[in-house]
Amino acid sequence: MLHRIDFSHERYLKIEDLVRRIKGYYPEADFTMLRKAYAFAKRAHDGQKRSSGEEFIIHPMNVAATIIKLHLDMDSIVAALLHDTVEDCDVAPEEIEKEFNLDVARIVVGLTKISKIKFKTKEESQIENFRKMVVAMAKDIRVIIVKLADRMHNMRTLQYISQDRQMKIAQETLDIYVSLASRLGINSVKSDLEDLCLRFLKPEIYYRLAEKIAMKKNDRDKYIKEVVDIVKDKLLEYSLKAEVKGRSKHFYSIYKKMFARGVDFDQIQDILAFRIIVNNITECYKALGIIHSSFTPIPGRFKDYIAIPKPNNYQSLHTTVIGPAAARIEIQIRNYEMNEVAETGIAAHWKYKDGMANRNTKLAWIQELVEFNQNMDNRELMDAVKNDLEIEGVFVFTPKGEVVELRYGSTPLDFAYSVHTEVGHTCVGAKVNGKMVPLKYRLKSGDSVDILTSRSQTPSKDWLNIVKSSRAKTKIKQWLLKVERDHNKEVGKEILDKALRIFSTSAKTLKKNNEWDLVMSRCTASNDEEVYINIGMGKVSTQSIIATIPSLQKVGTEDANTTKKIDEIDKYSQKISQTARKKSSKDNAIIVDGISDLMVRMARCCNPIPGDSIVGYITRGRGITVHTSSCQRVDSCEAGRNIVVTWNSDFNFKHPVNIRVITHDRPGMLSKISNKIDSQSVNIRSAIAKSLPDRKGSFIFEIEVKDYSELIGVINGLESVKDVISVSRV
Ligand code: MN
Repeated sequence: MLHRIDFSHERYLKIEDLVRRIKGYYPEADFTMLRKAYAFAKRAHDGQKRSSGEEFIIHPMNVAATIIKLHLDMDSIVAALLHDTVEDCDVAPEEIEKEFNLDVARIVVGLTKISKIKFKTKEESQIENFRKMVVAMAKDIRVIIVKLADRMHNMRTLQYISQDRQMKIAQETLDIYVSLASRLGINSVKSDLEDLCLRFLKPEIYYRLAEKIAMKKNDRDKYIKEVVDIVKDKLLEYSLKAEVKGRSKHFYSIYKKMFARGVDFDQIQDILAFRIIVNNITECYKALGIIHSSFTPIPGRFKDYIAIPKPNNYQSLHTTVIGPAAARIEIQIRNYEMNEVAETGIAAHWKYKDGMANRNTKLAWIQELVEFNQNMDNRELMDAVKNDLEIEGVFVFTPKGEVVELRYGSTPLDFAYSVHTEVGHTCVGAKVNGKMVPLKYRLKSGDSVDILTSRSQTPSKDWLNIVKSSRAKTKIKQWLLKVERDHNKEVGKEILDKALRIFSTSAKTLKKNNEWDLVMSRCTASNDEEVYINIGMGKVSTQSIIATIPSLQKVGTEDANTTKKIDEIDKYSQKISQTARKKSSKDNAIIVDGISDLMVRMARCCNPIPGDSIVGYITRGRGITVHTSSCQRVDSCEAGRNIVVTWNSDFNFKHPVNIRVITHDRPGMLSKISNKIDSQSVNIRSAIAKSLPDRKGSFIFEIEVKDYSELIGVINGLESVKDVISVSRV
């Protein structure tokens, strides 16, 4: 693989070409599956055309060809053939799993997900987030490699679409996919994509470079041959057999040099790169010694990537020397294995090898990499790739299309707090991908999140169980603490004012008499606010405060009644602070995903009672209506407006419910039934009696029950009454 891999578009690619190429490196591959995938894709894309006017199937065929050039396994090749079927042809992933296998289906699904990401690449930090998002959604590294192949082919046929989209796609490729290829060490793909990007993003530079390089091609080819021969001879003098090749560097790397040095093409001397490939590491260093003693090396240009590999595992020796005709030439020295790694990077470790086909690919691959790197004593690469593959966060979109990184397991509330504290505090719900979701919904990478807020909303304690991020937790706690402080301050002031009034004095008077300091020190407070808070919290009793003020002692001992009153005040203060704490959880019969104080009403059509399975429906402007899950109205409710609700077990309340009792038409039936209900201590709100034909009576009672089991008790009781035919809830 000494030459750069040729990824050119192949217009007349046939399935037999693929078979033949695979046989070259993987003779025992499952060719039945390959042919089946080809037939499947051809049928699915039947009638579809590329922008170039070609049959669509030529696209997946070329993507598969690239995957084959990288020598990947059969699952990757098949996935490449099928990669657009789910997105463009509505093929179900289950069908792919059934016809092929789970791995293939997963790769195709991963590709479909990535293709839905809408890239907005302006800020550097956003580019990094998008890149992480791609990796997080891909999960399996093969998804990224097939995606890169897909992108390479699309870039090759970019000239058939509008210039606007050309620029957009090329920029996205440069920002996201070139960087991914580089991090995965797939240099052949990286330089290929870079040149394609340059061609569309900076066409004037690209074509000028192409022209310049073509111009002196004959001279250059002659020069390359000359250098190659000299180098070979020198190496042979030391009986070192090596492959030696030379070529122009790829356009983008020349462009980068020009850009970095601020010079024109003519001033760039070292556009030629030579490569010496030997059998082992010892020979690499031996070859380097020979080169350095045969040509003058340029100081500071020698780099030993064998001793210290690049984070993406690239290994090679680099040096620049003065070649024949005083030209600078760059020389890379490596062995065959290093060369393969340099060209195909991660894919090199992932390609088909004996026994590879049976491995649990996703995990085994990481495992293999770990072992591989321990052998190589190279933790750097391991960390780099591990960071890429085991991204722990989730990546979601804001309504503006920006990507936000959140902790794994985060909910819409975490998202809301990450936007702004105020958005978090007033969050009443969220839409994910356009649908209402519960606040405790676990966000997935790729979700678009839209937060609904209401000015009347405030955080509740339950939220602490919903949020994952420490930021959101801290903000909620701070808020709750402030509310409690405010409340305690208010209560404390009320209590102290009342107590002081009994002694015909006030805080103002105590201050005037310089006695307020005593109150402050009794409360270990440094200001008025703390005095009131400590009293409100019940830390300091009013009795003990009164006892520390000398001017009040006379009054206090003279009047026994006063002591009693103060006792009362203390009790009262205890009661206040206790009820205040319980209030919030007793307020509502229904808990809407941890949000309290939402407007909730029971639907009149089905009158749900505790114990019923229920569902909330978000109405327009009238809060949430709670129906029983079996209520027919629920089915006709607008999709996406449902919300999870649960019964609040702390809530004590009688719920109205209607029951219908059918009886034989006998005198006194109404009072018999009423008495039976009364005897179970159940309140009757109303009763309607009606005579039915064929001598039957119908009664509808609206009764109030605590919960479902109480209702069942009433129904069972009534069924035992003589002449009652049936009892049912309506
Ligand atoms: Mn495609």
